[in-house]
Parts: sequence; structure tokens; C-alpha cells
Amino acid sequence: VGRVPLGWQTRAYSNKVEYRPIRSVLVANRGEIAVRVFRACNELGIKSVAIYSKEDRSHIHRLKADESYLVGEGLPPVQAYLHIPEIIKICLDNGVDAVHPGYGFLSERSDFAQAVIDAGLRFIGPSPKVVYQMGDKVAAREAAISAGVPIVPGTDGPITTKEEAMDFCIKHGLPVIFKAAYGGGGRGMRVVRKMEEVEENFQRASSEALSAFGNGAMFIEKFIERPRHIEVQLLGDKAGNVVHLYERDCSVQRRHQKVVEIAPAPQLDPKIRDRMTEYAVKLARHVGYENAGTVEFLADEAGNFFFIEVNARLQVEHTITEEITGVDLVQSQIRIAEGMTLPELGLEQQNIKPNGFAIQCRVTTEDPAKNFQPDTGRIEVFRSGEGMGIRLDGASAFAGAIISPYYDSLLVKVIAHSQSLQSSCAKMNRALREFRVRGVKTNIPFLLNVLENQKFLNGAVDTYFIDENPQLFN
Ligand code: ADP
Repeated sequence: VGRVPLGWQTRAYSNKVEYRPIRSVLVANRGEIAVRVFRACNELGIKSVAIYSKEDRSHIHRLKADESYLVGEGLPPVQAYLHIPEIIKICLDNGVDAVHPGYGFLSERSDFAQAVIDAGLRFIGPSPKVVYQMGDKVAAREAAISAGVPIVPGTDGPITTKEEAMDFCIKHGLPVIFKAAYGGGGRGMRVVRKMEEVEENFQRASSEALSAFGNGAMFIEKFIERPRHIEVQLLGDKAGNVVHLYERDCSVQRRHQKVVEIAPAPQLDPKIRDRMTEYAVKLARHVGYENAGTVEFLADEAGNFFFIEVNARLQVEHTITEEITGVDLVQSQIRIAEGMTLPELGLEQQNIKPNGFAIQCRVTTEDPAKNFQPDTGRIEVFRSGEGMGIRLDGASAFAGAIISPYYDSLLVKVIAHSQSLQSSCAKMNRALREFRVRGVKTNIPFLLNVLENQKFLNGAVDTYFIDENPQLFN
């Protein structure tokens, strides 16, 4: 520490908001997460408002809201959802009083959170200052250090030269992982195991980061061998109360991207669970975390675990936490943004008890036989798995839906909940087999291979699982 972080303390962030009941929520997002939030609004008697790009004009998320407005006309498909002034104008013109950012798009942009607040609207998420601090890898790590949370050894800040990269590797030893300082979503990472490969890999990773994220600055961390990715779900309120809703295991990853998630983490030593959740709560209290967020850790085989990052937003896999705790995280987010405290919502730590195991599979329109190339077109036939313990969160999963190439390929999230991990997996397996999707390819055959793998069924797997089991792709 001792270094002044990238200026988050001095930025003119303000969160001077009047807490008041929310009557209308605009979701600055699309697809399944927009629909997820509309459903929560509907149940709370709150009006829901959608935005949609020209490419999404016939997308179902537009029709699931009470009102919808075209955004970003003339802009490319993704950019349309990033047009902050236009989104704010839609809110002000149409009596919207709160904005939910979903995940991806503007969800981790502190300038967006601030613009929402400056317009006199409620931002359903943490304060802009916290969004900034948690989105900045260096500031987040410094917050973790000062809260006493163990972190992976890493560079003190973003680095831009191969000499700095060499210095770090010589000082800390190999292996290391290079990460794009301004990247995310598991992209732009590279593991280096040999000294003679440091310089070349650094150059390559940095130029990839430049083209993908517009900035070539990198961050280096010690690479943890055979880690499990375990993350703690949190809720905080305006009064400084923070609770955890236990953890999720997201170790089943392909190219550092989550594929299957489980809550709670199977076979996790209860002592480690206690320490991990305690650290996560400590960190959130330390930064004054309000609303929903996740603290991510990597746990090694020796029983150590290290903070990697905070996601200051709702996550794709929030569903499994909802299933095991019975807490509607999106409704909680809205109530917290209205100014309700956790005790008022009945969310005291002693009342939050995990029940059974939940598992989520991300069904995507990707073809496992073609190296997960996204498939597009019209869904001709669609029948889903149903029945006890199965939840589906989707938006374009129906016959007649057009899968466009413009956005990510998540088709539907299938969630199974039951008393044991084994019976959750059996429900998931059975439900995935009931699916009939014709017209576009999906990754269901791959997901079934995972669900039938004995190592997976035995419980704890680490992040190497998919890479080490190429037969899963057949
Ligand atoms: P992103 O923000 O792009 O999602 P994360 O920092 O959350 O990236 O890391 C995503 C995944 O990459 C982790 O779940 C883990 O599998 C792997 N990873 C990241 N950092 C390390 C590390 N220091 N050692 C080993 N694996 C890592």
C-alpha cells in the first residue's frame, strides 16, 4: 500500500439522494436479465420500462415490460445500450424514477451510476464511488488489504512495459497470470510458466488487450495452481448493515468463463466457509457497500484462499443463491434502493439459512462440435425441460425466436434445486434431456457430458476440470 490509488477518493462522486418509494424502473439492459428484473417489478407492483436497440425491435424483452423505448438509433447494436444521455432522457421523459443496470453493458460504469443520480433518479446498485473503487483492480485490492482480507500477490498497479513484467516475475517467481487491467468477463488472460516466455507473452497479451478493451495496460498476479473459484453473495443497506447469502462454486469454467455454478460450494470445509464469508462481509463494511454484490475468491488445495475481485452488480448466477436461501435478490435490490434496511426486509444474518443445493447451467446457442462457435437463425422447435425443482430464466427461448449474431449467446439459464447435490444434478440432467431445440445449435450435449462426468458428480472440481477433460467436447 502507501501508494495513492487511481484517484477514487478525490473524484467528485456524490450520492446525495432522497430515499423514496420507487414506482417505475427502467432496465438499462436486454435479454434474460431485463426480463428477470421486470418480473421482480411486476410482483412488487412497480411499472417496468424496457429499452431496445433497432436490432432488438422484435426481441421478447421489449414485450415483457409495461413500456418500451427505442435507444441508440444509428449506433452499432452494443453501443445502442451504452448511450447514457439517451437512456437518462428516456427516464426523464417518461416518469421513470429508478434504473437497474443488470449485468454487462453499463452495470460497472461509475459514470453511469453518477449520471442516473445527477438526474434525480435512483440507481439500483452501490454508490458511484463504490462502483468505481470495485471496478478498479488496484483500488479494490487496496480496499481488501486495508480490510485485512488476503489477496493474491500482484503488481501494485497497471503496467505497460515488458521490463516491469520481467521485474515482477523475477521477484515473485512463476507461474503468473497476465490480465488486461481494463478487461473483464474472463477475456484477455494468459498464464505464463517459463521465464523465456514472459516478454513475448506480455507483448501479445497487451496488444490483445488494446484491441479488445482500448487499453493495453496489464496487471500481473501470481497464478494459483488448481484453484476453486468460490464467491460470496452480499447485501448491504444504507444504514451500513451487511449480510452474506453464502457462497457459490463457479469452478466449472471454459476459458475462464463460468459454465456451471453450484450453491453452496460442495465439500467446502465449514471453517473455510466461515472465514470466507466473514472476510467478504468485512470488506463490504469497510467500503460502505450498499445493495447487492459479490466478493470472488480463489481457494487452493492447501486450504488457503485469496481475494480476486468484487463484482459490484447482480451476477448471472444469482439465481442459485435465490434458490438455496429463498431470498429474491432483485426485489431486495429494489427495496434497498428505496431506503429499506435489511432488518426491515427480514434479512438478518441469523434468518438466512441455506437449504439443499442448487445448480445452474448456462444453455447457449453455441455449437460444441464447432469449438463453441455461436449459431444464429430462427428457432424452429422449442420444448423445455420442466417439473419439480426446475427454474428457467430466459428471454428468447421459444419457437419462432430469432437468435441474432449481435449479442451474447446465452439462451436460457436452467436452474435445478433439491436437497442434495446428487439429486440436483439428476434433476438437471433429466431436464436438459427433455429439451428439444431445432433450428439453432446449443451447448446442451456438452452440458450433459459435464453432468455425467464422475469427477464432477463426486463434488469438488477445480478450474482445470474442463481443460483436463477433452472428452466433454464430444
Ligand atoms: P474477470 O474479471 O475477467 O471475470 P477474474 O479475475 O474474475 O476475471 O478471473 C476469472 C477466472 O480466471 C477465475 O475464476 C480463475 O479461474 C481464473 N483466474 C483469475 N486470476 C487467477 C489467478 N491469480 N490464479 C489462477 N487463476 C486465476
